[in-house]
Amino acid sequence: MTTMTDVPAGSELPQERRVVTAVPGPKSESLMARKRAAVADGIGTVMPVFAARAGGGVLEDVDGNSFIDFGSGIAVTSVGNSAEAVVRRATAQLQAFTHTCVMVTPYEPYVEVCERLAELTPGDHAKKSALFNSGAEAVENAVKIARTYTKRQAVVVFDHGYHGRTNLTMALTSKNMPYKHGFGPFAPEVYRVPVAYPYRWLTGPENCAEEAAAQAVDQIAKQVGAENVAAIVIEPLLGEGGFIEPAKGFLPRIAEFARENGIVFVADEIQSGFCRTGQWFACEDEGIVPDLITTAKGIAGGLPLAAVTGRAEIMDAAHSGGLGGTYGGNPVACAAALGAIETMRELDLPARARQIEEVMKPRLRKLAEQHPVIGDVRGRGAMLAIELVKPGTKDPDPAATAALAKACHQQGLLVLTTGTYGNVMRFLPPLVIGEDLLNEGLDVLESALSEL
Ligand SMILES: *Cc1c(COP(=O)(O)O)cnc(C)c1O
Repeated sequence: MTTMTDVPAGSELPQERRVVTAVPGPKSESLMARKRAAVADGIGTVMPVFAARAGGGVLEDVDGNSFIDFGSGIAVTSVGNSAEAVVRRATAQLQAFTHTCVMVTPYEPYVEVCERLAELTPGDHAKKSALFNSGAEAVENAVKIARTYTKRQAVVVFDHGYHGRTNLTMALTSKNMPYKHGFGPFAPEVYRVPVAYPYRWLTGPENCAEEAAAQAVDQIAKQVGAENVAAIVIEPLLGEGGFIEPAKGFLPRIAEFARENGIVFVADEIQSGFCRTGQWFACEDEGIVPDLITTAKGIAGGLPLAAVTGRAEIMDAAHSGGLGGTYGGNPVACAAALGAIETMRELDLPARARQIEEVMKPRLRKLAEQHPVIGDVRGRGAMLAIELVKPGTKDPDPAATAALAKACHQQGLLVLTTGTYGNVMRFLPPLVIGEDLLNEGLDVLESALSEL
């Protein structure tokens, strides 16, 4: 097996952390002033620096600072920014043609992406796909497909779930601030049930899977009626809710309930999919074969693309012309996806994600022993997180989390926070990051924790 340091960088950028100005530096400050004047305030910013170039495991800003990237643009650039195969294939496609609209004149890259999705997603049944522009659009379409297939209307989702920002997906998303606040009314026929969140389950983690599944099933049966449910939509590893790994046994029980009741089981793998968790898809961890799977983020190395993939008979339920969109499955985005998938296969990125876990998790656990502010360490592969609490309690500490993130940013480490309570720091490095940079990023985290 090759070592992590053999991984070629996504571009020619020096793979180093380099802080040469205050963060943000003067050029970022002046661009930020222009942003404030021209861009709607609703478009927030995690780290107030402007990107100039990015590749491999680093992001360089307009002031010449180079940040170790533990965010991948929210789990998107898993193959690295401007990865060679992505640039090569997308460039060739840009020169051939940029758009025809698949509903007007189809093109091979669209079909080829759907063929790859059929091969790569769990299950050996006949599969078909439809392509879209964003994750939210994919989730919406999964619901449309499930409704027309089952001729039912209700959709069941889970506490801490995140599925997007469009009207239907806001309804599916659990957290009010910032995703929903003031934006209602929301789409009807959406029902939320408990998820097995081991760290915060009231009776403790031991019986969490069983109790949470029993509560979820009971609520569906009593409050909705299983026979009215079109789809159960769940992230096999919950992203924006705080990188929650449902306790083992929970997902299989929910999938079984769906199967027994003719409900379409939809795995939303938009964040957890495409090698991120050390497997091609997170639901493989417990051998789950979803009826439909939604993908986006990591699929195309940074170009906007999303997909719904699933059982052919379900996917074919919608009438011709019932699904689609002007740009869905844009040829350049499809070419980029084929480049990203080629890279994932060639470099065996699921194995890289597991190597990242092997490097990071023991160090995060050690930090948790030394710093009682870390209440939990969790996640799989290169989708890892720490949950920050007031020491000696489980009370969420979003202020400490924000301060820690800021300290990391100032020392040249790009990290993101997340979680229903805003108290989770998540780590999503590009899967091609070198091991030295990974360790250096953890050194920065350690020093920022000590200053906290
Ligand atoms: C990001 C995300 C979405 C929404 O994707 P967009 O491309 O931002 O619309 C949906 N589900 C999950 C699990 C996500 O992480």
